[in-house]
Amino acid sequence: MHFSIKTSIEAYKLFLVLHLISTPFVFEMDAQTALKEVYFPKSVNTISRSISFQNKQTFELTDIGIYASNEFQGARLNDFKKLNDSTVAVFIEPENIPINNSAYYSFLIWAESEKEIYLNFKYPSKYKHRYRPKIKRVDHGWKKLKKKDVIKDGNGAIIKIHVDKTPILVSAQELSTSKATEKWINTLVSGREDYVHLLSAGKSKFQRNIPVLDIYKGSKQGKPIVVLLTRQHPPEITGFFAYQFFLETILEESELSKTFFEKYRVLAFPIVNPDGVDLGHWRHNGGGVDLNRDWAVFNQPETRNVATFITNSKNDGGGKIILGLDFHSTYKDIFYTNKTRAKTAMPNFIPQWFKSLEKNIPNYEVNENKNDSKTPNTKGWFLYGHDAVGITYEIGDSTPKRKIKLIGKVSALEMMRILVENSE
Ligand SMILES: [Zn+2]
Repeated sequence: MHFSIKTSIEAYKLFLVLHLISTPFVFEMDAQTALKEVYFPKSVNTISRSISFQNKQTFELTDIGIYASNEFQGARLNDFKKLNDSTVAVFIEPENIPINNSAYYSFLIWAESEKEIYLNFKYPSKYKHRYRPKIKRVDHGWKKLKKKDVIKDGNGAIIKIHVDKTPILVSAQELSTSKATEKWINTLVSGREDYVHLLSAGKSKFQRNIPVLDIYKGSKQGKPIVVLLTRQHPPEITGFFAYQFFLETILEESELSKTFFEKYRVLAFPIVNPDGVDLGHWRHNGGGVDLNRDWAVFNQPETRNVATFITNSKNDGGGKIILGLDFHSTYKDIFYTNKTRAKTAMPNFIPQWFKSLEKNIPNYEVNENKNDSKTPNTKGWFLYGHDAVGITYEIGDSTPKRKIKLIGKVSALEMMRILVENSE
């Protein structure tokens, strides 16, 4: 027998060597099936930073009989203090700084007896009041506070509201939590289970689900892919409304929609940042980072999971990603596009689409800002990573809902029409 200790050590060494060789190989396979780092001209540090949590509580100003609460998903109220018998200071802080000025707030308020009171908004210096309050009373829809009840706008904003024993919701924008979003998703899937496949792209930092709808009729093999994203930035609700009208329109089961889903596949992510939404964040995710700057290195679980899901879907189905629309809100309606067009899957899509929007929406002029992305956002990831058309689809903070509905609907119909015509 020559099986000595020495041989077994050699065997062990060999095993180690093989293991060491195979381990990075396995990792590389993972990285390949998952994500490639995409080059952007300007890098942004997206390593997690700490965020501060609100103390969930009921604020009781017993001597003036006024109460407020932040004990619900999507709330933001950091402190609540009496200034005088009819005026209360409402302290609102972001999750961390520096941060874009999306001064979001949302809280319940009520009083022992019916009265008019004044709310004086206090933000950390350098941040400003941005959103005119939306009010929700029990059994009523959302209403924007009347202009005459905004006593002072801008810094140190003061508003007048009517309160009584029944709590009302005062919110920077209409509230739509992750739960409400999942409920809406279920209505979309219901009755369409044969072609609307509800899946999960994984979990957020704080373990919330990131839902995705994988939509195609018949086989997904070889079908070009359109990606629809929204709510990387929690308070950007008007962009989310446009997203809802857009998605509902492509699922209307018209002749056009039927033909569209026979030729194309859609991956729809209706809530990319569920932690930020439910924690009432101004802009960032649970890792304290602007997710729409993390599309190069994918430090955050939300961006990493969504990008991996898109990449794996493309690899499994064998179809190219041709278009990515990412819905947001800003001060006015605007489409941010890339200047580079020729090498993309659809070099003429943008001018065709915008022309048809102007033709089909009365008195509408497309506001376009054309620039290849510099910082790592989705628009750039679609271009640099996939040679796809990438567009940041922005709706104004105060664009009326009927106009959002029209833009959302027409943009969906015209996208389907152009894509169907292009495929013939
Ligand atoms: Zn945004």
